[in-house]
Amino acid sequence: MDGLLKRVAMLAGLAGWALAGLVVPAQAAPEAAVNLYSARHYDSDKALYQGFTRRTGIRVNLIEGGGDQLIERIKAEGPNSPADVLIAADAGLLWRAQAAGILQPVASPALEQAIPPRFREPGGHWFGLTKRARVLVYSKARVKPAELASYEGLANPRWKGRIVVRSSSNVYNQSLTGALIAAHGEAATEAWARALVANFARPPSGGDRDQIRAVAAGEADVAISNTYYLGQLINSRRPEERAAAAQVAVFFPNQQDRGTHVNISGGGVARHAPNREAAVRFLDYLVTAEAQQVFARGNFEYPIVAGVATDPTIAAFGTFKEDPLDAAVFGRNNEAALKLMDRAGWK
Ligand code: FE
Repeated sequence: MDGLLKRVAMLAGLAGWALAGLVVPAQAAPEAAVNLYSARHYDSDKALYQGFTRRTGIRVNLIEGGGDQLIERIKAEGPNSPADVLIAADAGLLWRAQAAGILQPVASPALEQAIPPRFREPGGHWFGLTKRARVLVYSKARVKPAELASYEGLANPRWKGRIVVRSSSNVYNQSLTGALIAAHGEAATEAWARALVANFARPPSGGDRDQIRAVAAGEADVAISNTYYLGQLINSRRPEERAAAAQVAVFFPNQQDRGTHVNISGGGVARHAPNREAAVRFLDYLVTAEAQQVFARGNFEYPIVAGVATDPTIAAFGTFKEDPLDAAVFGRNNEAALKLMDRAGWK
């Protein structure tokens, strides 16, 4: 139902009350809320929602799901969708959401000021809220950092049987491959993917943390992972996870050329958002220093806003040169990346 229809329906409802001779109750404004569809599954995000409610009085109704699942759901709900905000953990998914027509453009000075242009969609359909670096996590016992250089270098036959990375269905790998397409073109990237697959220690399984655990356990020597997963293991309450983390170190690839691949987690306002204003306020809140600190401390992500401190665990990995590629570019390359990985036999 669009806004006008809703209003007509509401007026009709009120007229009904009046005709029935009833006193129209002082319609207390329904409790302000924002309906958040989130593909982020980090407990620490709850602190963000609480912080927003504390600041604005607006409640956050959380609907969690996989990125593609949420996109499909919003599509299926159509104009009646209660979705106000969609949050995804990757630029590729934000691109897919935009392509599916379920996001609307937003102009917000707070977002435009806080977020560097390469981390937001030029038309305002989505905005990066945190950064994540996709790095090499290597065995301190079996690999010298001098042996590592770049993502491209992992295709060298010297790494045969020594690399672990999660499946090609994982959107982080699709975005990384999309960035390589931007750097080298499709044909060269497909050749890279093929050679990388030939170096896998095992068929892809599990998430990034499982790849790190495999390196710690001696099943492989180098994993491709986002830094925050190592941050989670280092700070784990479980001694065996801390012990695994102690076996490995971070290498920032491509420091001699374009820089390490940096992805975003971000969000946009849903096309038919019933609470559009609250939705924009929610996104605005997520780039405040307060919220950025929660992202940084809670899940060890890199703040997207300049001047907000990175968690000490992550800061200890060192500073690095970021690939300046626009998130919209590897977002747009997502489909080509997925097809190419499939052709290369990346399970
Ligand atoms: Fe993740």
